[in-house]
Amino acid sequence: MNTYRSLRESDGPAYDALRGEMKREEEGLELIASENTVSEAVLDALGSVFTNKYSEGYPGNRYYGGQDFTDVIETLAIDRVKRLFGAEHANVQPLSGASANLAAYAATLSPGDTVLGMDLSHGGHLTHGHPVTLPAKVFRFVRYKTEADGTIDYDKLEALAKKEKPKLMLAGFSSYTRQLDYERFASIAKKVGAISMMDMAHIAGMIAGKALPSPVPFFDIVTATTHKTLRGPRGGLILCKEAYAKAIDKAVFPGVQGGPHMHMILAKAVAFGEALRPEFRRYAKQVLVNAKALEKEFLKLGYEIVFGKTENHMLLIDTVKSRNVTGKEAQAWLDLAGISLNKNVLPDDPRGPLDPSGIRVGVPAVTTRGMKVPEMRTIARLIDAALRSGGDEKTLSGIRRQVKMLCKTFPIYR
Ligand SMILES: *Cc1c(COP(=O)(O)O)cnc(C)c1O
Repeated sequence: MNTYRSLRESDGPAYDALRGEMKREEEGLELIASENTVSEAVLDALGSVFTNKYSEGYPGNRYYGGQDFTDVIETLAIDRVKRLFGAEHANVQPLSGASANLAAYAATLSPGDTVLGMDLSHGGHLTHGHPVTLPAKVFRFVRYKTEADGTIDYDKLEALAKKEKPKLMLAGFSSYTRQLDYERFASIAKKVGAISMMDMAHIAGMIAGKALPSPVPFFDIVTATTHKTLRGPRGGLILCKEAYAKAIDKAVFPGVQGGPHMHMILAKAVAFGEALRPEFRRYAKQVLVNAKALEKEFLKLGYEIVFGKTENHMLLIDTVKSRNVTGKEAQAWLDLAGISLNKNVLPDDPRGPLDPSGIRVGVPAVTTRGMKVPEMRTIARLIDAALRSGGDEKTLSGIRRQVKMLCKTFPIYR
């Protein structure tokens, strides 16, 4: 692991904070469903001289000189990610998932157009039309919801689409645990003359690793983040059918972004290369196995699992119903126990987003560090002990010691 000698010598406070974060990640359980831990090769790429370079435009067609190597790495990233997902066209410049979505809207919509997107409290993402976001002020978002059993009623969705006549139909989520019927979703969009878009931010890694079905053949546009299950640097990604390629590229640059972050694009190329290897398929499969094992243990302990069950890398748990602990309390107590996860709203949550009724638990990061089914059982029991602690600091620091011991057996960086 990099010792960061130059940083230590030149900037004490910055170095100390970095050391603190490194220790926190090594000694704690990372269960935030949107997080992961990248390889040292990806870290090397992120810390490279490519951060110095301006390269507005696209390979072979840039606005500044000196592009010998930026063109090489961006082409490498594009070729690899197209192969990884079997996509017709790829844009690897979006700075984040939010910018990828913004560019996709800019490429397909005019102000006032209607978009169907999944309701936030039912698992959708802020960028899918939540009223606090800029896109929601520009476009008309209509939200659809999940049923009581956790599934989506596609007949209902079709009726809504026929009534609202959206220009864009948006699938995808950040706290929904069930598998979507991509073929049915895209066929509804086609029927009503809408463009179909899937935001696979959370599950891109499992799709790349062939552990979950791919939306890419069915949807006109697919957006993703590269830092969640895909295990690359923080960033975004857009895949699309050839017919949308020009509009997407123009929307990313100059539509909503300036110069691309080339160190990030180098790191994306490295991560896509890793995801093409057989080890990554084993990883993606293990993520699903681990999520199921965690679910099984929580069920045994009498917990209420939201949406009926998990079919991906995360669980939603109703902590109020299960242990009479709010999401905010659970998150704070678990933080003291060295376990990071997030409070989460549940479908039509009466408690609201600041202190919701549940938590979201994800296994991508602990799976990366090598944890398997036996550790999932331990993790469920540690979380249960923390939720039963009533916030007692002594109990929580006792759990923290157990967490630290468990983590010692599974080092992230050597
Ligand atoms: C995480 C996420 C995003 C946003 O990604 P950022 O990189 O944080 O901007 C967008 N859509 C979905 C579904 C997500 O889960």
